[in-house]
Amino acid sequence: MKRPRLSGRAFFVGRRDMTKWSKRTQAVHGGTRRSQYGELSEAIFMTQAFVYPDAEAAEARFLDAGDDEFIYARYGNPTNRMFEDRLAALEGTEDAFACTSGMAAVSGALMALTKAGDHVVSSRALFGSCLYVLEEVLARFGVEITLVDGTDNAAWATAIRPDTQLVFFETISNPTLEVVDMGHVVALAHDVGAMVVADNAMITPVYSYAARLGADVVVYSTTKHVDGQGRMLGGAICGSRELIRGPIESYMKHTGGAINPFAAWTHLKALETIDLRVRAQAATAAFLTEQLSGHPKLNNVRFPTHESHPQYDLATTQAPSGGTVLSFEVKGGKQAAFKFQNALEFVIISNNFADAKSIATHPATTTHQRLPQEQKDLLGISDGLIRFSCGLEAPEDILADIEQALAVI
Ligand SMILES: *Cc1c(COP(=O)(O)O)cnc(C)c1O
Repeated sequence: MKRPRLSGRAFFVGRRDMTKWSKRTQAVHGGTRRSQYGELSEAIFMTQAFVYPDAEAAEARFLDAGDDEFIYARYGNPTNRMFEDRLAALEGTEDAFACTSGMAAVSGALMALTKAGDHVVSSRALFGSCLYVLEEVLARFGVEITLVDGTDNAAWATAIRPDTQLVFFETISNPTLEVVDMGHVVALAHDVGAMVVADNAMITPVYSYAARLGADVVVYSTTKHVDGQGRMLGGAICGSRELIRGPIESYMKHTGGAINPFAAWTHLKALETIDLRVRAQAATAAFLTEQLSGHPKLNNVRFPTHESHPQYDLATTQAPSGGTVLSFEVKGGKQAAFKFQNALEFVIISNNFADAKSIATHPATTTHQRLPQEQKDLLGISDGLIRFSCGLEAPEDILADIEQALAVI
């Protein structure tokens, strides 16, 4: 019997320069690595380790592994690498490292880039776990943290000192949708030689401006818009090749934060549709904001790129859309907000966002329940606040569901 030829050359679209193509095209083709079988859909390399034709090859790879040579899945894996390259292409950075979750990405970036005695400045309006990593973990290792109001340009200027090592913020904050003036903050940070790390979950890779406006490192919870269908936890750290394959990879590979290949594959395939999904969800967010503004049962209907947002000029200068999430306050506090949520017909009550299914979250009693009241007040997390994540349902159906639920109050 003829032995099948398994030594055919693998061909790598991934190493082709995709940069002349639009982001939408890169999101479909970027990073693709085909095996000798010529599969159309990218393969899941569900393997922990890799094998070598001989002992010399093993020695050589441990000495200096090439771009497409792998040793152990905690260090890297072909499916993970496809996802990393495709996401980096969308973000406009040289490289990326894929992590088990958004928090593995945030904590990994912060731990890899700071040391005892460093000073870090961060906006106060942060995802709760990010605040924990800064105030509880980094502080425990002797990193000094200064928190500022991210919308206050003067506060950034006062807080960033000549010895500041790193500046951290969410480009658009969750759940209050505050916008950081990136040009201003990046200039202040780079003036003193500080590194800028931006948590970009809310603005999405489709509308991202973080790398373009000078962030040195962009972190994603790919659990959100990249997956987009509520399946897999994941995260990514994007940045220059020097940073990603230097201190970031060293930290991540030795501490065990690498994404598993199945999750990486789910996110890789989800990137093929992210442009269509996010643009549709963002259009719905703009539509709902317009329709709900001035509703007699609501206060403060907010979306960064709607003209009623206090930072409308800044938000529209930075991006064509404010993302896929809006927020509003139901008049009547917690009781009215709960009544509204309980009356929704298909919109889901959950703490997640960026799903194909629309989601209404009550941050004060869920995602931000543990914050002391004065912190909630400072951040604008009121008892009536609803964070509304727009799904892929028909926009007029989502509006009708919201309106009938408001009518019940
Ligand atoms: C969800 C989220 C995270 C954490 O991501 P996980 O994937 O849940 O670990 C971090 N930052 C922001 C802004 C988020 O929305």
